[in-house]
Amino acid sequence: MQVVGKVSEKMGIDAYLVGGYVRDKLLNRPSKDIDILCVGNGIELAENVCREFKRCSGVTVFKKFGTAMLKTGDFELEFVGARKESYVRHSRKPKVEKGSLRDDLLRRDFTINALAVKIEEKGLGEWVDLFGGLEDLKHGWIRTPVDPAETFSDDPLRMLRAIRFATQLEFEIRDETFLGIQASSERIKIISTERITAELQKIMASDQPSRGFILLDKSHLLPHFLPEISALKGAEKKDGIGHKDNFYHTLEVLDRLAEKSDDIWLRWAALLHDVGKPKTKRFEKDHGWTFHGHEVVGARMVPRIFRRLKLPTGKEMKFVEKLVALHLRPISLTKEETSDSAVRRLLFDAGDHIEDLLLLCEADITSKNKEKVKRFLENYIRVRQRIKEVEERDRIRNWQPPITGDLIMETFGIKPSEKVGMIKESIKEAILDGEIPNDKKAAFELMIERGKALGLEPVDRVNKS
Ligand code: ATP
Ligand code: MG
Repeated sequence: MQVVGKVSEKMGIDAYLVGGYVRDKLLNRPSKDIDILCVGNGIELAENVCREFKRCSGVTVFKKFGTAMLKTGDFELEFVGARKESYVRHSRKPKVEKGSLRDDLLRRDFTINALAVKIEEKGLGEWVDLFGGLEDLKHGWIRTPVDPAETFSDDPLRMLRAIRFATQLEFEIRDETFLGIQASSERIKIISTERITAELQKIMASDQPSRGFILLDKSHLLPHFLPEISALKGAEKKDGIGHKDNFYHTLEVLDRLAEKSDDIWLRWAALLHDVGKPKTKRFEKDHGWTFHGHEVVGARMVPRIFRRLKLPTGKEMKFVEKLVALHLRPISLTKEETSDSAVRRLLFDAGDHIEDLLLLCEADITSKNKEKVKRFLENYIRVRQRIKEVEERDRIRNWQPPITGDLIMETFGIKPSEKVGMIKESIKEAILDGEIPNDKKAAFELMIERGKALGLEPVDRVNKS
């Protein structure tokens, strides 16, 4: 930092540490992007600073924004000249011009993000705290530096940022600011999906993501990008029988899972595990409320949600789909009389994701009755043991059935047809059911038998080894 101080003093311009880096330092949170604000030309300052560093990546200039970035060691320094922004109503593009330190701090989103500290050659200099940011940081408060209506209408993404900071830092959004969000929530419509999703991912990655979702709900922002989660809200009653509120249940599952895993996609699976419930909800005279097939319906909803939010649609999405689809399966394994075959089938279907699936199931136990929770969790210890035994013996995980379609066609001298699929499937089933051992010889014999039953004869293999 001294280097920046030395260079800026030599150039005769004032440079300040600002924004997230200052906030995080004061909160003792690790932070690697350093924002440097200077009253003057930020790009020139960056270039001069870079020359002074032994290890400097070179300066990347973003002309459009008047900013410059350089990397040194683990740190990323972003230089920006102080700006003044004025927004013209109905246009999202602000008019940007050079401004003073004060102008620049005024256009920042929250008081805790609008602190600045002067960088001098001898170290850090005076603090600039125009809006009581230090005090708010102490209390854990999120508050806009100017009228919330103005802050949020200038850039509606700030509403989501407020909720993200409240979740990430476990801060409280002050009433006036929160009322401002509620009043402006409709304006989130003009924000790009990418920016929304980036904030959503930070909420998901927090220690207690439920805090964010409760605020997203109360602020009326949630239905704009995750209506399926809003739809989980409410507990209907009929003939005196109610069901649990699936929104709060889902959030409890998400938090319980977040305690055990940082895997963002496993967290998404928790958020979406019951997403099919509203569509499958029925009231049955003899059974009360049911949600038959909600895991299948829910899994089918995953791709639409991922595409809409521009989340990755490759293996991450497949993983979430799979976990949603399978989330009820381990429950049946907790019953005393489960067969090895049921365990093998789950291992076959879940593959490498079996441990994640079990974590999800354990998080899904949200009864208020402590005794019940304890008992259910103990059941899963037994399930894990069972899985381990079966896996050690039968090695089903990541298993490929030993008989391929090619081998079937070659053996019986036939072309691709329905019969090939039937034989292949029946061998897989026989192994999973434990009718034959999981080895090639037994599978080959069964293939001949099943083929003959379908009227096929093995071709002469004398000349083949
Ligand atoms: P994080 O790095 O954890 O996302 P941050 O506060 O550092 O948090 P950045 O996006 O890195 O966020 O922005 C750096 C600083 O720029 C912020 O602290 C804030 O002062 C200002 N800022 C960023 N985005 C906005 C915005 N949409 N409106 C107003 N000020 C903003
Ligand atoms: Mg930052």
